[in-house]
Amino acid sequence: MSEQIASAPSCVDPFEPGMITVAEALERIGERVLPVHACERLPIRECLNRVNNEAVKAPRDVPPRPNSAMDGYALAISSLAEDGITELEEVGSAFAGTPFSGTLGAGQCVRIMTGALIPEGADAVVMQEQAEVGADGRIRVDSRHRVGENIRQAGEDVARGDTVIEAGVRLGPADLGVLASLGIAQLQVKRKPVVAFFSTGDELVSVGEKLEPGMIYDSNRYSLYGMLARLPVDIIDLGVVRDNPESMREALADASARADLVISTGGVSVGEADYIKPALADIGTTEFWKIAIKPGRPLTFGQIGSSIFMGLPGNPVAVMVTFTQFVLPAIDLLSGTRRRPPLLLRARATERLRKKPGRTEFQRGIATLDQNNEWQVGKTGKQGSGILTSISSANCFIVLPDDSDGVEPGDEVSIQFLDWSM
Ligand code: AMP
Ligand code: MG
Repeated sequence: MSEQIASAPSCVDPFEPGMITVAEALERIGERVLPVHACERLPIRECLNRVNNEAVKAPRDVPPRPNSAMDGYALAISSLAEDGITELEEVGSAFAGTPFSGTLGAGQCVRIMTGALIPEGADAVVMQEQAEVGADGRIRVDSRHRVGENIRQAGEDVARGDTVIEAGVRLGPADLGVLASLGIAQLQVKRKPVVAFFSTGDELVSVGEKLEPGMIYDSNRYSLYGMLARLPVDIIDLGVVRDNPESMREALADASARADLVISTGGVSVGEADYIKPALADIGTTEFWKIAIKPGRPLTFGQIGSSIFMGLPGNPVAVMVTFTQFVLPAIDLLSGTRRRPPLLLRARATERLRKKPGRTEFQRGIATLDQNNEWQVGKTGKQGSGILTSISSANCFIVLPDDSDGVEPGDEVSIQFLDWSM
């Protein structure tokens, strides 16, 4: 009896035609989604988080001239005796922004501050902690010093002609600093992708409206808005679309005329009110519609004209899971930058996690550091795909691979921090 059960095909997860793995879905998204063409030239501050269109070559050296890395004394090493102490005459000072204008002779030194240009005739800076000022005001230095000591050479950070930022890089704070250090005030970046989204469902009302029996508030448009608003994209919120074929077709046609990426939620299962797939078949093409993922199995990916379409499931947690796993990479590709592979960390499960083999699961967890500074993780209570608080109270996904059949306390698992929890 038990043998029979073991060898019988699982009736919970029967072989499902058309269902592809998470990795395959990502690969096919990667093949379909092309970067936007248009670019704009912007002041560098406005380029933060935008994608650089052409490699940036340094127009000059940084630093432009040799300068001091320390507060101390600039001198010529040839002035120092091979052994013992040398006394030097201090002939002036050099400050950042106010160089010493003369030339150092033998036996002379210049008081110098960090960032000041190295005076003519000097080839080292002795830090002030290693020099002594004698009662007569002469500067006493021992013989341990070497040519180039405490000097930042011209071009040491960036040499003229170096590529400092490759094309296709999403510009971060340090990139803005590098651009500014080169005197570059403006940069050509890809335009922001336009993302339009709508919810589907006859049961949905928007916040601010009265909740009649049988209706629920539309939460997906708000969590989607929250995830999109953090990204460098232009957003169009198209509201709620009712469950009928004409409204869906109209909404898809309108959205695709205005956006590079169209996202809908709901209406992608196999129920009788699920009109997204037939509407897409009418006015576009379908690439795939079922992924071995939990939550989020019914996800329709295709194209309408030159726009990418992603029909996410209706369940609120599935929306957020599929957004992080599939929409984010698609937006990276549209933006013209490389897809960032998710950063998975190892953590020790603090409790039992139930799972059946067959799909990659994204359970919602809270990861904390244990006494040994290692990650441990537990789940956030009930894990149903409609339990939105399972994700609002989480700081990470617990990612369980297709073949996992559950986790025991103490087992190692992979976790992926939620972008917005960090
Ligand atoms: P569907 O995929 O349209 O069958 O929706 C699956 C489940 O998610 C149903 O219980 C819907 O009521 C719910 N749902 C769909 N869209 C939303 C939404 N925008 N906000 C909250 N719940 C939704
Ligand atoms: Mg629905």
